[in-house]
Amino acid sequence: MSSLAQRMNDMLLTSAEAGGAESMEAVEQIIQEAAHQQRPVIEDLLDSRQMSEEDFLLALSQRLNLPWESNLKPRHSRRLKEVCSAAIALRHRLLPLWFGDVETNMALSAAERAKEESGEETGIGEEAASTGEGPEGSEQVLALCTYDPFNFHARQAVAQAIPCRIQWHMASRTRLLQAIQKLYGVGADTFDAILKGRDLADTQAMDLKEETNVLDGDDDEASVVKFVNQIIRQALQQRATDIHVEPMETSLRIRYRIDGLLVDVPVPENIKALQNMVIARLKIMSRLDIAERRLPQDGRIALELDGNQIDVRVATIPSVLGETVSLRLLNQQKFNLDKLGMIPQVRQIIDSMLKLPNGIVLITGPTGSGKSTSLYTFLSELNTVDSRIVTVEDPVENKIEGVVQIAVKSEINLTFATALRSILRADPDIVMIGEMRDLETVEIAIRAALTGHLVFSTLHTNDAISGITRLVDMGVEPFLVAASVRCFLAQRLVRRLCPKCKQPAHVTAAELRSVGFRNAEDRTCYTAKPRGCDSCNHSGYHGRLAIYEVCVVTKEIEDLIVKRAPEAALKEMAVRQGFIPMREYGIFKVFDGDTTMEEVISATAADMMIGEPD
Ligand SMILES: [Zn+2]
Repeated sequence: MSSLAQRMNDMLLTSAEAGGAESMEAVEQIIQEAAHQQRPVIEDLLDSRQMSEEDFLLALSQRLNLPWESNLKPRHSRRLKEVCSAAIALRHRLLPLWFGDVETNMALSAAERAKEESGEETGIGEEAASTGEGPEGSEQVLALCTYDPFNFHARQAVAQAIPCRIQWHMASRTRLLQAIQKLYGVGADTFDAILKGRDLADTQAMDLKEETNVLDGDDDEASVVKFVNQIIRQALQQRATDIHVEPMETSLRIRYRIDGLLVDVPVPENIKALQNMVIARLKIMSRLDIAERRLPQDGRIALELDGNQIDVRVATIPSVLGETVSLRLLNQQKFNLDKLGMIPQVRQIIDSMLKLPNGIVLITGPTGSGKSTSLYTFLSELNTVDSRIVTVEDPVENKIEGVVQIAVKSEINLTFATALRSILRADPDIVMIGEMRDLETVEIAIRAALTGHLVFSTLHTNDAISGITRLVDMGVEPFLVAASVRCFLAQRLVRRLCPKCKQPAHVTAAELRSVGFRNAEDRTCYTAKPRGCDSCNHSGYHGRLAIYEVCVVTKEIEDLIVKRAPEAALKEMAVRQGFIPMREYGIFKVFDGDTTMEEVISATAADMMIGEPD
């Protein structure tokens, strides 16, 4: 026996003694058996009724030096339920007590205990800790109460699901279970209550009229509807792409697919009893024939979470143990070309680029300039059943349904170049390479483009024209650049004016000319309100938008590339053919009232230094 297990056993034995166990032999036997059968030893000891539950656990808490809670009053229920999900609390029988900084909360607990002992009613906890957060900069701690400090599954699950420091407390099992049920409302008792109170016919009558299922908000009534909503909400919060509800012999298994891997979802132990109601609820939500249980069915659910629309595709499969229901959560982040808000001149070019059968579309800009969003948007636009899209990314930032996405793993030599070389043998129509970092990758991409593939990728350069020279500088033959690259799209992010508090302003022709805007004339535009408003956190801005410039590789530009012409010459030709420099694009967005002159000028300052034609 390991020394850790030995120490654990010693603690259990002395605590059992303190709990008034009559026969230490009997206790020892329970401990041995539990270890042998890999059962939770504390549950078994408590179930054996050999000792006082309270005294035994109190003694154990003292041996382990964990704070003992005789009065379980979670402070700030709503916040706690956000931090510690019902699934975690119910499955692992944990009660969150408070969340915030240790000093304040421990002081409050002591004060509460003192009042409690003197018999006074107190509201001190709710008031003083009203934000649930400590002073700025202090570490956030979640106090979790358990009656089984040796439950390592629970600790593991907590470590995975709750990203903050945990302070463990202990309490008696009976009081803890009651408190958990009271806090979450979907405990074992609640499930029993649902079972007694309703039958399947009632389930069928449940909100059939719902058009969209709104998942936000706390529905205080414990019900199957609430339970199913919680399961879906948690899946979305964990970025799951699929939910599988699978009847098993003795339980109902629920699994999420997160980052491609299936993960068991902790569920209340007696969920099996509600299997039919859970499945019926899902079928009602997806407008399936609830009476049909022998044939597979397909349906959809329109969900809303925090104002976002989520499309869920549902498939049922009859199995010998009952119907399995699979939910595919689609478009967690909707990419839409319209959302990029491109000015018509640029949008037109992009529309035509997306229709090309082959060639390279390169997006340039520094890190954090929104290149990924543009890439994903373009791919989403092209993502139809008749096109096969493969990506190589580092890392995969967003999942796109129907697109084969590969993550670079340099430690096993799966680089952009090696992955790209092998996927080209797998017959893709469209290829996206996260970044062109080296000559090898660029050359394979060029070969792909020349053999009939449409290739999207990014380059770290400041503006569109310098993308051309960068490729040549990397060692790519100019004629290959000219032949394969269709356009260079450069971009940068600027802050978006708060629509609630933006203020009208005026800009003169002279001012516009001084910052390089051609065809300048006096204009009205908008500016940020100093100190903003509540909806923009008093910044005057709300969110960001991209500004672009796009250089199309025309016949004339091709000729210049082949001749290794300098940037200035390339730019002059581009401008002659209608190229709109990023700063000018930004100023158009200022005229639209989307951003401000200050934002555009600071975001494009670097480009101006390499010389802007006027
Ligand atoms: Zn505002």
